[in-house]
Amino acid sequence: ESADVVVLGAGPAGLVLGILLHAAGIDCVILERASRTQVRTRARAGFLAPNTVEILDRHGLADGLHRHGRRHGTCEFRTQDGRFRLDYGALGQGAQHHVYPQQNLVTDLLTHYLDLGGRIRFRTEALAVRDADGNRPSVTTREPDGGTTRWTARYVAGCDGRYGAARRSLPPGAVRHHRYDHGVTWLGLLAEAPPSLDAVGYAIHDRGFAGHMARTSEVTRYYLQWQRGTPADAWPEQRIWDELDLRMGAADHGPLRRGTLLERGVFDLTCDVVEPLRHGSLLLAGDAASLLAPAAAKGANLAVLEAEMLAEALTDALTRGDTAGLDSYSDRCLAHIWRAQEFTGWMTRLLHAPPDPDQDAGSFFHAALRRSRLASLRTSRIHQDWFAENYVGV
Ligand code: FAD
Repeated sequence: ESADVVVLGAGPAGLVLGILLHAAGIDCVILERASRTQVRTRARAGFLAPNTVEILDRHGLADGLHRHGRRHGTCEFRTQDGRFRLDYGALGQGAQHHVYPQQNLVTDLLTHYLDLGGRIRFRTEALAVRDADGNRPSVTTREPDGGTTRWTARYVAGCDGRYGAARRSLPPGAVRHHRYDHGVTWLGLLAEAPPSLDAVGYAIHDRGFAGHMARTSEVTRYYLQWQRGTPADAWPEQRIWDELDLRMGAADHGPLRRGTLLERGVFDLTCDVVEPLRHGSLLLAGDAASLLAPAAAKGANLAVLEAEMLAEALTDALTRGDTAGLDSYSDRCLAHIWRAQEFTGWMTRLLHAPPDPDQDAGSFFHAALRRSRLASLRTSRIHQDWFAENYVGV
């Protein structure tokens, strides 16, 4: 089988890319390992940056988001000494987030793509990309019935995440792979409960970080800094809520609204960047290009930005033979990626002690640095503007 562009993965990156290519009249197909139901129900991100909303608006993809999403512009930092709020939506460049669960966005994008007549194969796993250094790359897939198929293309877009086939298929030495482990692990929770505060909550506590992020009026995301290697189901629900109460200072600042925990997942805060994001006719976008720790909620936003840039570059190449956009694609994306990595690293160090529990002096030193950093954020307008601009920016 064949298509001019074979897109691997139907997350935000792959679907936006597929829609824009299809709208430009490019022959493309999306190959997705998961089933349609899995794609539509995977709860992950929720905070969309203004730039992401602009991109979605520009292509008529933001109806659901405007109808059901909410604007959001406040975060609250809590410590054992007290709390303060930053109305980041009124600081910096005065921009807010839209809160709209990623699975709703993905469902909207999928519906749009199918309405356009876009081709997509679910339960079709890309196994390997071959011949990317030539101009006739191919992708081998495992089909739902267990058989294999070979797809040929002009270009392959790797939008299949960190563990996808695109990254695996890069020949040794073709790209550099920069990895960093923040040394912190989170337990991510989805609770069937309304939000407990009208702000993103970041609690910095001696026992570890805890976080609160609204999703919808019925579902809220919480995070607990977690012992690395401990399984997600190690604690009963009651203990998790008690720990969230403790770290978030519920006794002083008001109770958390408890509910059934719908989902638990453990993830290490690691990040990486593939550089360049291109090997011949194989191009990477989204988590396949760079993984960010979720502390600053940047991943889905970068995925949409890169998908738009890649769609324009591929359209120019395939319709006019103009490959300038493809040639500069990697450098243009990397400027955004490193900016997002830098701010995410800053947030991660603000929210957690570095993992050096054996060095008491070091722990004290870093705790004092964090207190000082927070004090500056509480009191310095310039620091607040810097925070706001980076927090909502991509
Ligand atoms: P994905 O959404 O991962 O999509 C990749 C697709 O490829 C998947 O559908 C997968 O099934 C498919 N696939 C994988 N391997 C193959 C294969 N071999 N063959 C075919 N298909 C394959 N980001 C934000 O911007 N804001 C947030 O608030 C935020 N919160 C987050 C909270 C959590 C708990 C997590 C885990 C992440 C969060 N993120 C957030 C990050 C965000 O979810 C990701 O960055 C985003 O999903 C990346 O989009 P993508 O399209 O690149 O990849």
